[in-house]
Formats: sequence, C-alpha cells, structure tokens
Amino acid sequence: MERTLSIIKPDGVTRGLIGEVIRRLEKNDIRIVGMKMLWMTREQARGFYAVHRERPFFDSLTNFMSSGPVVVMVLEGENVIEKNRTLMGATDPTKAAEGTIRRDFATEIEKNVVHGSDAPETAAFEIGYFFNRFEIVA
Ligand code: ATP
Ligand code: MG
Repeated sequence: MERTLSIIKPDGVTRGLIGEVIRRLEKNDIRIVGMKMLWMTREQARGFYAVHRERPFFDSLTNFMSSGPVVVMVLEGENVIEKNRTLMGATDPTKAAEGTIRRDFATEIEKNVVHGSDAPETAAFEIGYFFNRFEIVA
C-alpha cells in the first residue's frame, strides 16, 4: 500500500472543483486517509515547493499557491502515486490526455487545479509537511 499527497490548488477551490476532484479519486478506488483545508503563507508555499526554488516560475507559483485556500489530502492505495498522476494529467493542460483533471479543468500551466507527489520520497516529505500521524486514519 502506498501513500501520496494531493492538493486541490487555489484555482480549483475558488472555481468550485473540490467535489469533482474528490469524486474522480473515489471513483478510481483511491482512499482518502487525511484531509484538511488551509491557506498557506508565502513562506509555507516556498517551503513546500523548495525543490523548484531555482526555476523561473518559482515566485509566481508560490504566490499563486498562497493566494487562497487549498485542500490537502493524503491518498492511499496500490500504486497511488502514479495512479493519481495519471488522473491529474500532464502539467500543461494543453498536453494533458483527454479525461484527465487538468485537461478538463485547468486554464494554464500554472493554474492547473491539482498537485500530486511524484515519487515515494517526495510523497513522504509532502505528507509530513502538512500532516502529523494523528491526522491520518489507519
Ligand atoms: P505538481 O508538482 O504541482 O503536481 P507537476 O509535477 O505536474 O505539478 P512540476 O514540474 O512539479 O509539475 O511543477 C510544479 C508546478 O509549477 C506545476 O504544477 C505548475 O503549477 C507550475 N509550473 C510548472 N512549470 C511551469 C511553467 N513553465 N510556467 C509556470 N508554472 C509552471
Ligand atoms: Mg511536481
């Protein structure tokens, strides 16, 4: 059994897509074992996306991620890291496959509705960034 971190980004929350994203996860047999809504400070967003700190889009991305509330979730399931990434679709919505969350709802490469961890190591870091062990149901 694997775990991953999912975030419904500020654009997804603002546009009323919380239910739609969760519906797609549950429909694909992904179990939500932790969930909360929060509004990151700029510093929290910069810490979360620290791997991207040298990228040209870092300031814009972290400003966006701290521009409104997000929903953070711990997802559990077999191969759930990859499974969630497949449901999300490619980073750039114009390149995302049909039927994916980003293809169906994202408006641009930055405001792309969802985040998902990309490997077991990043999943562990990202889950620990937002959740303590009492906030994840067994
Ligand atoms: P995420 O990590 O959010 O799940 P991802 O793994 O598909 O997305 P990354 O390369 O990790 O993509 O980029 C992190 C986020 O930074 C993207 O989801 C997007 O919001 C933003 N981003 C990535 N590339 C660009 C870009 N070229 N211009 C603007 N924003 C970008
Ligand atoms: Mg990423």
